[in-house]
Amino acid sequence: MPDSRYAVFGHPIAHSLSPQIHRSFAAQTGIALEYTAIDAAPADFAAALDAFVAQGGRGANVTMPLKEAAFALCTQTSARAQLAGAVNTLVRNDGQWHGENTDGPGLVRDLTDRHGLDLRGRRALLLGAGGAARGVAPALLDAGILELAVVNRTPERADALVDALGVPERAYTRYWDDLADQGDFELIINATSAGRSAGNGFQAPFTLVNSRTLAVDLNYGEAAIPFLAWARAGGCRDVVDGLGMLVEQAAESFALWHGVRPDTDQVYAMLRGRERTLVTAD
Ligand code: NDP
Repeated sequence: MPDSRYAVFGHPIAHSLSPQIHRSFAAQTGIALEYTAIDAAPADFAAALDAFVAQGGRGANVTMPLKEAAFALCTQTSARAQLAGAVNTLVRNDGQWHGENTDGPGLVRDLTDRHGLDLRGRRALLLGAGGAARGVAPALLDAGILELAVVNRTPERADALVDALGVPERAYTRYWDDLADQGDFELIINATSAGRSAGNGFQAPFTLVNSRTLAVDLNYGEAAIPFLAWARAGGCRDVVDGLGMLVEQAAESFALWHGVRPDTDQVYAMLRGRERTLVTAD
């Protein structure tokens, strides 16, 4: 019998891979748990979380569009979650929610450990300023990138992200329309959800690319196709989608809840085998 209950909350949530990933980790580590997907509209989220606790809920993942709401519901939040203003992992401690954001460490772990890429010294361009961008930006700076240019469709959100980072000598904003004047980057990260809309191609000048450029899309499956196609056409040396990050951020959550970090290679290989059918949902 499972001795503890976990869940991922989102809206929609039907396509989330988190239940499958966490059940695989549980089987691998011999930990008995239940992990389900719970659909909660933003207006119903707090009540759904209360009901989950009443039924024995001990921890939860949170995905779009609830990460900011989860942050607001926490009594305590980590420094990383505070920088992001968003929480993707909830831990129940002493009758209260503690909030963490594992997106950034998940991305860095995938790029450095799985793909063997060195992020240090890279000039980086971050496309997007939503919850995911805010989660990964501090982790990239911590991982030793040289500097970070942030570009977003709504420029004010890019400004807010950069202000929160608090390192004006390393992180600054630029406009989409000025990308052709920004020179080239060794790291370009797509943290937008633009590829989730059917028929959206990705357009940016190839002058952003140099001979070392690593292009990363936080999306995976169909939603990653437009940006990754652009990156390949532009001659990026390395091209990585968000599937590995998904598995690694889940492993970080699992470690917070259970005190043991699972091996991620098996789950990653299984999901990679089904890649074409995957729908970005976390
Ligand atoms: P948010 O809704 O918080 O932010 C969406 C971002 O995309 C904003 O910067 C938004 O710009 C931008 N955007 C949306 N549509 C367009 C468009 N047509 N053109 C240009 N920019 C656009 O989402 P998240 O930040 O939480 O997630 C972003 C993506 O990353 C999602 O697709 C999500 O699935 C993926 N993700 C993957 C994870 C993984 O583990 N692999 C983890 C977390 C997220 P604006 O501010 O102007 O609206």
